[in-house]
Formats: sequence, structure tokens, C-alpha cells
Amino acid sequence: MTRLTRADLDALPSYVPGRNVADLARELGIAEAIKLASNEVPFGPLPGVPEAVAEAMRSAHRYPDMGVVGLRDRLAAKYGVTPDRVVTGCGSVALAEHLAKATCLPGDEIVYAWRSFEAYPILTAVAGATSVRVPNTPGHGHDLAAMADAITDQTRLVFVCNPNNPTGTAVRRDELDRFLAAVPSDVLIVLDEAYREFVTDDRVPDGLETYGDQPNVVVLRTMSKAWGMAGLRLGFLIAQPEVATVVRKVLTPFSTSVVAQAAAHAALDQADEVRRRCAIIIRERDRVTDAVRKLGVDDVPESQSNFVWLPLRERSAAFGAACEERGVIVRPFPEGVRVTIGTPEENDAFLAAAEKALP
Ligand code: PMP
Repeated sequence: MTRLTRADLDALPSYVPGRNVADLARELGIAEAIKLASNEVPFGPLPGVPEAVAEAMRSAHRYPDMGVVGLRDRLAAKYGVTPDRVVTGCGSVALAEHLAKATCLPGDEIVYAWRSFEAYPILTAVAGATSVRVPNTPGHGHDLAAMADAITDQTRLVFVCNPNNPTGTAVRRDELDRFLAAVPSDVLIVLDEAYREFVTDDRVPDGLETYGDQPNVVVLRTMSKAWGMAGLRLGFLIAQPEVATVVRKVLTPFSTSVVAQAAAHAALDQADEVRRRCAIIIRERDRVTDAVRKLGVDDVPESQSNFVWLPLRERSAAFGAACEERGVIVRPFPEGVRVTIGTPEENDAFLAAAEKALP
């Protein structure tokens, strides 16, 4: 048979999104399930965002500003960098993909912790690069010393997911200082800070403030989580101008839509509301962490994100299914279950389901 696609992609796992409310309605007949599976914030879009989207729709027949000039200026001012250092994309996941394309040729290596964000292995393979996965520490966090040791002459890119999805752990300043000093200057270090707004431990550095000026550091942020824009797709990175210029060359043209640009402006007007919402999530995260520990789940790491990790290992799939039967969608992985923090009522519903689902 004639092959039409790359043979090496046959073995590639597909990105598995969190299951959604419609899945439970169809499969289990549960009409009003609670979704705690995709690390979204539960409060709806920020005030002003729906109106900005509606207004932007008036020019939806035109291409967006491909240079994203207004929004890049705004992000640059907010983060104290020059606009030539900012690149926006269709979610930060797209930018992670672009970074792999911008750095790797076939046979080059990308190093990342495992388990971590499930897009890393996929985008690595799509770029034709080779994954080098470094197992997490027994405490479920990045093993930065082992990651530094895993770097070879073929390594072009390292992802540091801080806080880590799905375990919620975060690496601290002293560990990161040592790691950054150990990585050769011709290897790009991507600090993926999708959950930065939920960090409360002041030993966990803001990658941009602390390392943003290091030439081989790129900081990846998103408006999907704390900024409530997951459905609008707006991520951004801050890099040195030379790196940003190359990423812009590999971007899919016009991939930051008219509505995403307008929504991001409106969302950025709501920084106080974002802080207020994050404070609720953080309080609830700590409450849910305590509660699952009290339910007897061993070894639950402290979370610095908007989700909690239950290291249930071989019991993970059964626990996920049992929660779904009680109308709560969580996210099982082979090593554990990730539970996104929802509203206090949703978290209570999860805890009630978890109590029943645990043996
Ligand atoms: N990085 C991490 C660590 C994530 O968990 C996610 C989303 N699950 C992303 C990046 C991508 O988010 P988005 O594409 O919505 O910006």
C-alpha cells in the first residue's frame, strides 16, 4: 500500500483531552456533571471579555493583525520587556510546538521530566526530535540534577514545567539556579509557567523576573488558566529577540485570532479580578489537599497550581471511573489522578465522590 504519511507518526499517542460534560451525558446519562479535568478556572469569562469578543466579531471577516502589535506592546509593558521579545500564539501549547520546530532537526533531543505535560512527547515527535524523559523524584517533582545529566551534545531544548502538570509540584530558586548554570549555553531552556498565577511559595521563582534576561531562557505563559480564556486560545512567550524572531518565522500565519486579541486586551484590564479569583482557587486547593490526605490518600504532594495530584497508581483508572459515576470528571493518568480545583461547591461534590470511590 502506498504510504501517504510519515511512518514514525503511527506510534505517536494522540493528545487525550479531559473528558467533558457531554461525554458523561451520552455515556452515563448524567445530565449535569462537574468537570474538574482540564485545569480551567470555574468562574466564567472575566467581566468585559464577552463584550470585547462580540465587538471584535464585527471585523471577523478581516484577517487579524498578524504582528499582534497592540497586544504584544501591552504584554511587553506589563512584564517590563521590549515588544520584540514577545510572541503570541494559538495557546501556549502551539508556542511549545513552534519552539521545538525552531530548535530541532531530526535526531536532536528534547529533555523533559516525566510525568509532565502530555503535549511534550507529541510535539517532540512531530518535530522529528527524540524525547529524553527524566523520571520525577519520589516526591513527584522534577529531578533537575538528573535532567542536567541527561543533556547530551544532541540536546537542543529542555522543558521545565513549573509548576508541573499534572503533579502540581514546583521547583525552587536554589535548584533552578544550579540547573540553569549546568545547562550549556547552546541549549534552549523553556520555563513553562502556565500555572504561575497560582504559585504561593515564595521560594518558587518567577521565571521571567529571575531568569528572563538569560539568553537561552524562554518563558511560556498562557491566558487559558488564571485569565479564563481557555476557549479563546491565547498563549505567549518571552524570549531574547533573536529567538523570538525565529519563532515568529515558524508560526502559523494569523494564528492569534481577532477575537483572541480583543479578549486578551479586555482580560488584561481585569488583573484585580484575576487576583481575587486566584485567591479563592488557592484557598480551595489547600482545603482539597488537606481533605484528600485525611481521606487516606498517601503521598499527596503540595500543589502550587490549580489542581491536586492523587498518586493512586494502579487504582487511578478505577478511581476516575467511580468519580464519573457520581457525576464528577477528573483526569486519571497511569501514575495518579489530577483533580482541577473548581468552585467550593464543585470541590465538595468531588470530595463526597472521592470518599465513596476510595476503598
Ligand atoms: N503548559 C502546560 C504545563 C499546560 O498544562 C498547558 C495546558 N494544559 C499548556 C501549556 C497549554 O495551554 P494553552 O495551550 O491553553 O495555553
